[in-house]
Amino acid sequence: MEFFDRSPGGIWRRRLAGIACPIAAAALLASCNPGPGGGKPDSWLISPDDKGEYWASYGRTYNEDHFSSADQIDTSNVARLGLEWAYDIDVPLRADSQPLFADGKVYIATGLSVVQAIEAKTGRTIWRYDPGVAKVAGKKLYPSWGIRGLALWKDKVIFGTQDGRLMALDARDGKELWSTQTLGPDVDQSGEATITGAPRVFDGKVLIGFGGAERGSVRGAISCYDAETGKRLWRFYTVPGDPAKGFENAAMKMAAQSWSGEWWKFGPGGTVWNAITYDPEFRRIYVGTGNGGPWNWKIRNPKGGDALFLNSIIALDADTGEYVWHYQENPNEAWDYNAAMDITLAELEIDGKPRKVLMQAPKNGFLYVIDRATGKLVSAEKLGKVTWAEGVDLKSGRPIEKPGIRYENGPVVLWPGTFGIHNWQPMSFSPRTGLLYIPAIRQADAYSSEGVDTANWKPTENAWNTGMGDVSAVKQELASAEFSSSLLAWDPVRKKAAWQIPTPGIVNGGTMATGGGLVFQGLIDGTFNAFDAASGARLWSFDAGVSVLGAPITYVLDGVQYVTVLAGPPSGAAAGSLTSQAKFGWRYEHPRRLLTFRLDGKARLPETAPPGPATPIADPPGAARASADQAAQGAALYGNRCGACHGVGAVASGGAPDLRASGIPLDPDTFANVVQGGLLLSRGMPGFPDLDGKELEALRLYIRGQATGGGKASQGQGAGP
Ligand code: CA
Repeated sequence: MEFFDRSPGGIWRRRLAGIACPIAAAALLASCNPGPGGGKPDSWLISPDDKGEYWASYGRTYNEDHFSSADQIDTSNVARLGLEWAYDIDVPLRADSQPLFADGKVYIATGLSVVQAIEAKTGRTIWRYDPGVAKVAGKKLYPSWGIRGLALWKDKVIFGTQDGRLMALDARDGKELWSTQTLGPDVDQSGEATITGAPRVFDGKVLIGFGGAERGSVRGAISCYDAETGKRLWRFYTVPGDPAKGFENAAMKMAAQSWSGEWWKFGPGGTVWNAITYDPEFRRIYVGTGNGGPWNWKIRNPKGGDALFLNSIIALDADTGEYVWHYQENPNEAWDYNAAMDITLAELEIDGKPRKVLMQAPKNGFLYVIDRATGKLVSAEKLGKVTWAEGVDLKSGRPIEKPGIRYENGPVVLWPGTFGIHNWQPMSFSPRTGLLYIPAIRQADAYSSEGVDTANWKPTENAWNTGMGDVSAVKQELASAEFSSSLLAWDPVRKKAAWQIPTPGIVNGGTMATGGGLVFQGLIDGTFNAFDAASGARLWSFDAGVSVLGAPITYVLDGVQYVTVLAGPPSGAAAGSLTSQAKFGWRYEHPRRLLTFRLDGKARLPETAPPGPATPIADPPGAARASADQAAQGAALYGNRCGACHGVGAVASGGAPDLRASGIPLDPDTFANVVQGGLLLSRGMPGFPDLDGKELEALRLYIRGQATGGGKASQGQGAGP
C-alpha cells in the first residue's frame, strides 16, 4: 500500500509500506528498498516506473524522459478531456516554463522567477513569492526572458533567478529558507550571466548552471549546493581559464590544449543553461554545454583546435563533481550550436543487446545515442535538414564537416540555424513505444566573419556579442529559405522517423508522453493537443485563447488523472528573432494562464481578446522624422539592444510590447525616462543608462519610422538562446 508522509518536513514525500514496491526492473530494486525511515526521498519521488502519481522534477524522473505511466486518460477516452480550471496569472513576461506537482499542489515559476503554489483540484492560489528580480538584476534584466523551470526537494521549492541567485522556499507557506548568489567574477567577468533553467536535486544536493555565452565574457560551469543550507559543495568549469592562474583540475589542463590565443578573456562560453541529468545507476551527472562566446571562433580560438568542452556532453562524478568522460558534438563550435538540450536516459536494445544509453537531440540536427558507461557514441543520425555535415564518423565520434561552414570563404547559410532542429523545449521518450517525441524546428541562419577585425574585437557592454560579420552576400538565400516545424516521433533504435506531422510556426511547446498511449503538445496557434503516440493522429485539441508553449505535466490525485500546462504569448529568443511567429497575432497583452484538464472537465475559459496584429500609432502632425544617419544609427541600436524582446524591425510577436503601438516613443522625455532611466523596470524593461541623447533620439525615430511604415521586418538573424 502507499501513503503520503505528512510528518513535519515530509509533507509531500511519498512513501511505500510493505511489499508494494512498484518498480519491476530488478536493476532498480536497490533504489526501492523501503526499510527503516522509508529510504531516500528522491527514490520515491523520482522512481522511473510507478503509477504516474506525481511530477516532482523537471523531466519527471531522473531519466528526464517527460514520460508518465498514468493511463486513466488514454487513446479511447481522450476526446472527453475537458478543462477543470484555468488560472490567469498576473505576472509579466514568459509563461512557458514547466510546472511541478506534489502533495496536492501545482508549483509554477513564471516571468522573473515569481513562484506560486496552487491547489491542484481547484486552481486556488495557496501562496506566491516574488524574489524582486527587477530590483536586484540591474543590467542582467536584459534580456528579460525569465525562468523555465523549478525543483522540489523534501519540503522545499528550489529555483534560480535571472540575477544569479539560487533560492529555497518552504513548500508549505512560500517563506524564503535560503538564498545564495551563484555567480561571481570567476564565471561572469562582465556581470551578464543569468539563470533561466531548472535546478536538479538528488541526495540533498542541488545542481544549477547559468547562461549568457553571447552576452559578456561568461565562463561556463555547473555548481552543486547543499539543499539544506544553500552552501556550495563544488563547481566544475566547462572551459579552461587563464593558464597563468593555474588549472583547477586535470580536465581543465587537458581542455586548454585544444584552445589558442587568449580565449579566457572572452569567457569563452560553454554554459550549462539547460541540460543537467543525474544518473543514479552510475552515480554520475551529465551536463550539456552551450556555444562558444562569441560565436565567431576566429576571435576566441584563432588557430583552431577543438575548444573543449564547448558543445559537449560531460559526465561528472555525482559525489565529487570530478570529470569522468566527455563527448563533443561540434569541435570548435562556431554557429551557436548547443549540446544544452535535454539529456534523456534509457535502456535500449541495440543489435540484440541491452545498452544503457543517453539520448540527445541538440541544435545541430543529429540525434545522438551515447553509451552511458563509456561515453562512446552508439549512433548519430540526422533528424532533418542538416547542411553543415555529411554525417558523424562513428569510430572517431567526430562530425564529417562540409567545406566552408566555418565561414572561412565568406558568408554562408547553414541548416539548422541558431534555433536548432531542437531547442530547449523538452522532448519526451515513451518506454512503451520506444519513440522519442521531438518538437522539431526547420530553420536556417547566415554566418559570417566579413568586416570583423577578429584580432582586435571587444565585446560591447549590455548588448549581444556574437562576433558575427556582414551577411548581405547571402541575404537573399536566407530570405528565400522556408522555415517550418513538426512533431517528430523518432525511433532511436531503428534510426528513423516512425511518424512526423507538420506543426504551425517554427517554435512550439515541449512534449509529454503518457502510459495512456498519448503525446501532449501545446502549439503556437493557441491549441493544446493530444496525439496518438503510435500513429501521430490528433485525438483531442483545446483552444487556449493564447499560444501554449510550456511543457505539460500529468499526475494522479485522489484517483483522478490531471493534465496541467502553462500558456501565454511567445517569449524568449523565439519571440524576438523569429518575426514570422508574429503572424499568429499573439500580443504581449494576451493572458498568461495555467490550464488544468481531466476527463469530463466542464470549466470554461475567461473571455480572451482574439488574436490579431498590433495597431501602430500614427504620427501627430509635424512629428520629427529620422535623417538617413539617424535611421541607420537607430536601426543598429535597435537590433542590438531592443530586438531580442521587442522583435526584429519592431514587429513584436508577444515577448514584449509592440513598440509601434506604444505611445512612449511619441514623446522624447517619456522615451528617455523609460529607455535610459529604467522607469518600467518592475515590468521587466531594463534601463540603458549608457545611451546618450543622440543615440536615444535615433532609436526613438527609428521606432516611429517602423510604426509609420518606414521599415519592414525580415526573418533576420537574432541571437539564439
Ligand atoms: Ca546561445
